[in-house]
Amino acid sequence: MLALLLQTIDKSLGPSLSLAAPLAFVIGAAMLIYVIAAPAMRIAIEMRAAAVGLERYWVMQCPTCKRDTIVLGGSCEHCAKSLGLPWFVRLRNALAPEGEPRWLRPIRWTLTGLCVAAFAALTIACALKSGVWNPQGNLERLFAGLAMIAWAGFGWLAGRVIGFGGGGLLARGRDAVFALVMIGALAALLTLAGASRPVEEAVLARVTVEGQRAEVNGQAIPLVGSQLGFEYLQVDHELAGFQRVVPLAIVGAQRVNLVTGSIEETVVDHLWEHAAAYTARGLSVRKRTEQFLAPDPGTYEVVLHGREIGVRREAAPTNG
Ligand SMILES: [Zn+2]
Repeated sequence: MLALLLQTIDKSLGPSLSLAAPLAFVIGAAMLIYVIAAPAMRIAIEMRAAAVGLERYWVMQCPTCKRDTIVLGGSCEHCAKSLGLPWFVRLRNALAPEGEPRWLRPIRWTLTGLCVAAFAALTIACALKSGVWNPQGNLERLFAGLAMIAWAGFGWLAGRVIGFGGGGLLARGRDAVFALVMIGALAALLTLAGASRPVEEAVLARVTVEGQRAEVNGQAIPLVGSQLGFEYLQVDHELAGFQRVVPLAIVGAQRVNLVTGSIEETVVDHLWEHAAAYTARGLSVRKRTEQFLAPDPGTYEVVLHGREIGVRREAAPTNG
């Protein structure tokens, strides 16, 4: 249903999509790079500045001599007269002369660095696994780009929520809410991107039927009641989203073996013999048979459409 809707959108928006989709993709990628590179660069600059001895201080104009003075204690560095600061301001300046205690700085650098590295690693892992990095069509590219923008937005907001810098509790709360909105948008956009990915198709076997006789790979077999079976080995890994289908045989009144070559045969035999052991490791190995009727003469194709196996009449009647 969703896939059909998206196909319609793809068709009707065709030309404008071919402009908007790469644009959204590039903007998304650029935002991600910025969200990761900007804090990393800021830390690098701060560390280098601290290494050469550049420090931040409070500065004010002395009420007596009217010259700018660095505020270290309560008196002017030029004329040594009192600056007239309230005691609690002087206390704050004594505790954190640059607005941040010095001992906190290396901790902030380390934690920020770790957070940015974790965000970068998570980004790369998710981009590769979800296929967002390698979109197949323009519509998928558009959603992938928007998803990257949402993810970059989340990273930026999350940085503000946990950041050491300014920002009161209220601002952090607001940023946290927006970060959650971004995660919601990301989930929706990834779903749309996945749904607009064109389904891959592969022809697993080709059977030519004539009356009660079928021909597969040049071998003829008799049929019973126009019924054909397609036997295959299915290997799944649910967690990794991995699936392989290995055609084994076409079955009528007799079998036609589809496994060609000794290597393939060895692999299939090995998988099937050790199916129980593989299942224990989360890899399910199953032998299945798909039954179908071939009442009309012609060529039938057994097709893997995404994760579904189906049978269809060959569109163009080409023999050979
Ligand atoms: Zn002065």
